[in-house]
Amino acid sequence: MMLLHLRRWIAGVAVLALFSGVSARAQHSRPAFLAPPHSAIEQNFSGPLPVFEFHSGFWTNLHHFLYQQARLKRPGESAPGKSSAASPSAGEPVRTNSLSAEERAAWSGAVEYYEKNLADKDLLFNGDMINYKNRLAELETCADLSGRSAAGCDAGLPPEMARALETAAPVYRARWWPEHDRANRAWIAGVSPLVRQMGGDLARQLAEVYQARWPTGKIRVDVTARANRSGAYTTLDPVDVTLSSTDPGNQGASGFEVLFHEASHALAERVSNTIVRECRERGKPIPRDLWHALLFYTTGEVVQRALKSSNAQAGSYTPYAVREGLYTRGWSGYLLLLERFWQPYLDGKTDFDFRRGDRADGVIAVKASGCIPTDHLCAKQGATHASPTDPSRIFGSGPL
Ligand SMILES: [Zn+2]
Repeated sequence: MMLLHLRRWIAGVAVLALFSGVSARAQHSRPAFLAPPHSAIEQNFSGPLPVFEFHSGFWTNLHHFLYQQARLKRPGESAPGKSSAASPSAGEPVRTNSLSAEERAAWSGAVEYYEKNLADKDLLFNGDMINYKNRLAELETCADLSGRSAAGCDAGLPPEMARALETAAPVYRARWWPEHDRANRAWIAGVSPLVRQMGGDLARQLAEVYQARWPTGKIRVDVTARANRSGAYTTLDPVDVTLSSTDPGNQGASGFEVLFHEASHALAERVSNTIVRECRERGKPIPRDLWHALLFYTTGEVVQRALKSSNAQAGSYTPYAVREGLYTRGWSGYLLLLERFWQPYLDGKTDFDFRRGDRADGVIAVKASGCIPTDHLCAKQGATHASPTDPSRIFGSGPL
């Protein structure tokens, strides 16, 4: 039950077959999906294309659910905007009044452990949390986490954490897991046709845009009822996407975009490094999260085009960052830059080589740090933006 049976069908057969058919073509230094390149730089940036391996894992879901419930006990942590018809109480503490006294004690003890020990740690940036999440994903078929059922099921987690999870497990399995697992499977079933239909081409386009190769091997996607506040996050080495099946922002075609936005983090190192390098060479402040805004912009653009050309959305699709208001919460200056300097590259009107950094990406970095008032756009190197409306906190899903 832990490992989704559909996985092999979706990831191992259908998607692999679709992607492998377009994986070996040489690419140019510009997006080739709209116009032929001016330059003759021949490079193969696509390499093997990603094959998503979707999971609905019991322990991973329980871990994120406990983490969220612990966080929600804190003042200001509730997120009513995250509620939806499919999951009306997603942003509120779960109701426990229907539990037996024994169940309630077991559940609240586990939540208390998370509140005291884990809730302050960020799922994306804390190394321990990443290790715990990765380990629980590996053990999704295990009945316990202490090795009682099988030697390979000794999680190696802090003993109290393993105890908290094991204590909460029967309650979760009886009360919430069936609904969560159903939502996860429905989300996977919903996104799979889009992945099969457009995923290979989209992945190739993104590799061309970023002039980067997808990592070899499958990209694991842990579909969970609750993820982090953003609704999805990605950890690298290995690339692992955790994505909420119930987050209102992840539904329908938007979920398809979020999936590829998250996966794009695996391609973002070069563009991120280029922006940093360009600013340093010019003695300019490094525009915080410009690379992340660029990632949102790019994925939104290519997904919108793909949906339009396939008639899947009849041209009415609104990219995630626009719909969720990310550009209006501190990135409005970035949006102007991207529209002016990045869009022509996506349109095939300009080309550049990331290694030289003297074209679109460098221009964006310089404009962002020098030609626009920096107090609005930029943070000096080492400074942090920690306001609740900082998009990096709202949707922080990659290394800074
Ligand atoms: Zn991201």
